[in-house]
Amino acid sequence: MSKPKPATGFPAIFNKCYNYTRPQDVKKAGIPYPYFRTISDSEDTVVTIEGKQRIMLGSNNYLGLTHHPKVLEAGADALRRYGSGCTGSRLLNGTLDLHCRLEEAIAEHIGKEKAIVFSTGYMANLGVISALMSRRDTVYLDKLDHASIIDGASMAVSETVRFNHNDPEDLDRRLQASNSTHGSMVVVDGVYSMEGSLANLPEFLRVSRKHGAALIVDDAHAVGVMGPNGDGSAAHWNLTDEVDVITGTFSKSLASIGGFVAASAPVIQYLKHHSRPLIFSASLPPASTAGTLAALEVLRAEPERRTRLWENARRLMEGFRTLGFDIGPTESPIVPILVGPFNETMIFWQKLFDAGVFTNPVVPPAVPGHACRLRTSTMATHTPEQIDFCLDACERIGRELGVIG
Ligand code: PMP
Repeated sequence: MSKPKPATGFPAIFNKCYNYTRPQDVKKAGIPYPYFRTISDSEDTVVTIEGKQRIMLGSNNYLGLTHHPKVLEAGADALRRYGSGCTGSRLLNGTLDLHCRLEEAIAEHIGKEKAIVFSTGYMANLGVISALMSRRDTVYLDKLDHASIIDGASMAVSETVRFNHNDPEDLDRRLQASNSTHGSMVVVDGVYSMEGSLANLPEFLRVSRKHGAALIVDDAHAVGVMGPNGDGSAAHWNLTDEVDVITGTFSKSLASIGGFVAASAPVIQYLKHHSRPLIFSASLPPASTAGTLAALEVLRAEPERRTRLWENARRLMEGFRTLGFDIGPTESPIVPILVGPFNETMIFWQKLFDAGVFTNPVVPPAVPGHACRLRTSTMATHTPEQIDFCLDACERIGRELGVIG
């Protein structure tokens, strides 16, 4: 029990906290509460939660590199050589030779002139949008863009306009309707994180160019997954040179934490001196930086991992479709089961959890209220038997709950 709030002199801003009982209410109503479940052990595709082993079908560890010996060794070596943290920002005392090597490797892998590394992908998006946008500029966002993009636009002093999801024609109309004579920026996810579908980059690029707008692509879910060399969605569409700025994260295929912005040399030079999340926050720790570098090397040296990732993704997608699940327009290893109502989604989640399968329930505000879903995703290191085990559990529970006939 928390302490009761004092009767007088209590700061009003905390009232909402003391009145916030949604998690308790949900539990009391017998609806499963899926959040903050504690993992006590991880063997890559199998994790231990609440004393029981479960197949991890909800991770962004697409290439299964979090447990790769080279990644672990590189992290441990860096920890010993540079210590546990950088204790300062890149601008001042927090730049290691490792950061510079990682920036060169990322720029080369993505196919841009230069790159800059941030401490998270979230900060990379905040940092690029807020630094580049000035008063009287306008940033155009897809309605399903990731929260870090939306927050980057809120942090910027510019105007924000939202356009319909993956709809270049709607973007065209909105750019046309704008009477701004100032700068415009369009930001989309290369792979949409809750749907697994691809942004229509060729059309977004055409429309952006028509109106003199810059195009920024967040490739968080595309690096290591899309493109001929795992070099992302712009590479997939053969548009790496044309897309102005590519951002991404190290917390998914690259098995660590951190983020990047890749662009032309002058843009990166400007960000280095104007991006507040870079300047005013401590830099990426040594072990994470070295681990990311090693993961990037493995990504390039072991293309067969991407092949296995896609084999697993296709096995799961085809399995779900054959069983009659609605998995929407996914074209990536992100495979959502569209359930619909909130309560059913939570019950489905709990039953799968009890059956030994970990998925992620996605509910408002991440998606509209009627479009709740279980977000599943495959890894290169899942075995076909593990995928089939998950499909069997989904079939049994899906029929029991009437999600499939
Ligand atoms: N962009 C997208 C599309 C994401 O899905 C995420 C993470 N969920 C991020 C950015 C933020 O990345 P990070 O975890 O590195 O902060």
